[in-house]
Amino acid sequence: MRKTKIICTIGPATSSYEMLAKMHETGMDIIRLNMSHATHKWAERMIGHIVELNKHSAFPVGILLDTQGPEIRTGVRESDLDLKAGDEITITVRDGMSVEESSIRINYDELIDTVNVGDKITVDNGLINLQVLEKHHNLMRCMVLDGGKLGSKKHVNLPGIRVNLPAITQNDREDILFGLEHELDYIALSFVREADDVLQLRSFIEEHKPEKANTIKIIAKIEDQQGVNNLEQIVQVCDGIMVARGDLGVEIDLAELPNTQRRIVQMCAEYGKRVIVATHLLESMIENPIPTRAEVTDVANAVYEEADAIMLSGETTVGKHPLRCIRYLDSIARATERKPGLDFTRKLRKNSDKEHLAATAVELADSLEARGIVVVTRHGIMANFVTNCHPHRSPIFAFTNIGVTRRIMTLNRYVYPFKIEFSKEPEETLARAFRELKDKAGFVPGDKVVVISDLLIDQDTVGIQIRYLP
Ligand code: PEP
Repeated sequence: MRKTKIICTIGPATSSYEMLAKMHETGMDIIRLNMSHATHKWAERMIGHIVELNKHSAFPVGILLDTQGPEIRTGVRESDLDLKAGDEITITVRDGMSVEESSIRINYDELIDTVNVGDKITVDNGLINLQVLEKHHNLMRCMVLDGGKLGSKKHVNLPGIRVNLPAITQNDREDILFGLEHELDYIALSFVREADDVLQLRSFIEEHKPEKANTIKIIAKIEDQQGVNNLEQIVQVCDGIMVARGDLGVEIDLAELPNTQRRIVQMCAEYGKRVIVATHLLESMIENPIPTRAEVTDVANAVYEEADAIMLSGETTVGKHPLRCIRYLDSIARATERKPGLDFTRKLRKNSDKEHLAATAVELADSLEARGIVVVTRHGIMANFVTNCHPHRSPIFAFTNIGVTRRIMTLNRYVYPFKIEFSKEPEETLARAFRELKDKAGFVPGDKVVVISDLLIDQDTVGIQIRYLP
């Protein structure tokens, strides 16, 4: 069974119910709705597809809504603009008039006040680079340093420059409110620069949908140097981190990206938080049917670091081979997981007795070579404690009586989530769990499992048992 989860961003190439069903069958665990591109109407349709799909699947697909964040983008273009090194072009803001065919509009009104002559402006994840030559009221002249074809709504980065945009923009608020009205498991907050950005989102959810404040999980996207500098404080207040390598690779020194990824994954392991490695994992497969050797090695590296999940973006939104991409992630993950990973969890901070017991259950299961660890969990807290210990051999089978908890656990490394009715009789609850293992996970009578739960005895006493399936 695969340990690492697979997240697929959904787009034009993957928005039919049939395609989503095939993607899930191939190995997709979570869909990502990228609100930089999605309309509410479209996102609602995709959520509807997943809700329907989950009625028919043995394991559910989780739903992650990714906010656009304080992101700067170029405007919509009718056709690509071919920029060549050495060209001079005009950038307009504040509805400035285009002075020539090659003018580029950018949606950040304060851009001209924010940059200085000589500063670098990076477009499309670093592919196109411009240098500011002169500034005027609502336009500026720039020289093309690195040219390329510029399409619509491409990312703009101002490396090293503090952008004066709120952590949660008006656009994000509307998208989050939309999400709160729908089935949603994770909100990924873009460009988290400090812990307070995450706390603002939590208060926003509490204010507008208090009943979901404890169930919707917040993923902080680390995308710039400020986020990296404040990493430890951010990790402590969020539920998980996304290593958003697209922006991060432009905002920080690119050569530092591997060290930064490793530091983020390591810190999440230490604090027991989920972590997603995102962007460019199989970028060449947007066009090509096979990945490059370097991409295979990059995916394997994320798996070796024991990230909870690896994420596809363009590969599954507009790529030509979405199913093949999932197949590659699946097979690379399985192959890499046969070897021990970097085991960052040996530094896991355990703050409660329950966390120590979870570690004991994992150690026991691994040393007994148990076929699985059975966790009975209402809100997924005990399942998180077990996940945090990264069992080497024994997969985690988590049983909850709450549908939302089941979907939230789709992000947990090596967790297979089930929903069952809980009985007042602990033995009956376990009997139902064991039946599910036999019906849906290929277990047979006599298989050994380690059971951990605080529902076996009473609410406050965690019990660990070694059991054999009847
Ligand atoms: C990234 O920058 O890597 C990322 C995942 O975020 P976005 O898709 O918003 O650029």
